[in-house]
Amino acid sequence: MKINFHLPLLVVFLSTFSLEAQQSYDYFYLVLQWPGSFCDSKQGCCYPTTGKPKSDFGIHGLWPNYNDGTYPSNCDANNPFDPSKIDDLMSSMQSEWPTLACPQSDGLKFWSHEWNKHGTCSESILDQHTYFQTALDFKKKLDPLQILQNAGIEPADGSSYSLSSISQALAQGVGGHEVGIQCNVDLSGNAQLFQLYFCLDQAASEIIPCPNSPSSTCSSDGIEFPVF
Ligand code: AMP
Repeated sequence: MKINFHLPLLVVFLSTFSLEAQQSYDYFYLVLQWPGSFCDSKQGCCYPTTGKPKSDFGIHGLWPNYNDGTYPSNCDANNPFDPSKIDDLMSSMQSEWPTLACPQSDGLKFWSHEWNKHGTCSESILDQHTYFQTALDFKKKLDPLQILQNAGIEPADGSSYSLSSISQALAQGVGGHEVGIQCNVDLSGNAQLFQLYFCLDQAASEIIPCPNSPSSTCSSDGIEFPVF
């Protein structure tokens, strides 16, 4: 039997197929958040039903990203967040990934949002358990609060720091890689340290130089680090 292929169509089909089969993102941002700055802002916060989070950076999310700065989202409605898959991680989730949104909740809504929006876009590499476990492991390993404290940058009401001192301390603490720094403003309009963006490779196995840093929303000086 002779099969006639239409060559141009075949090329289009094969290249589309191979693109699909290739990576669907380039790298990850691990985004950590200072709870004091989330709360000390116009939106305010509500502590989780499990109680006031500890005074430490919390996880916001692990976000697959493209090199051009855009990112995929909500990639698989057929694989929704299932808390039973992370039963064994619950106490770490409550302590390291605290929900601060109002009304007060136990965290499941926040974690579900993060998995459904971001996690499903890297599910071919990190299943649900691995996704949450990976974020928890990196947070513990990176420990930015300790890095900052070692450089004399402490949460303290009334003190403020320069962007360069914060970014130098963080870069030095993570092997020379630049860390993205995001600020927000408190009720009086003062800039404060809000979120840190660490770049991880596509397998989320190591920290890498950021292909694309989120532009800093911080002023160069007078950045507060509020007590929480
Ligand atoms: P994302 O959609 O992953 O970019 O996350 C943004 C959403 O997460 C916004 O609705 C934020 O209000 C919410 N969010 C950020 N941090 C927290 C937190 N610690 N607890 C609950 N919701 C949060």
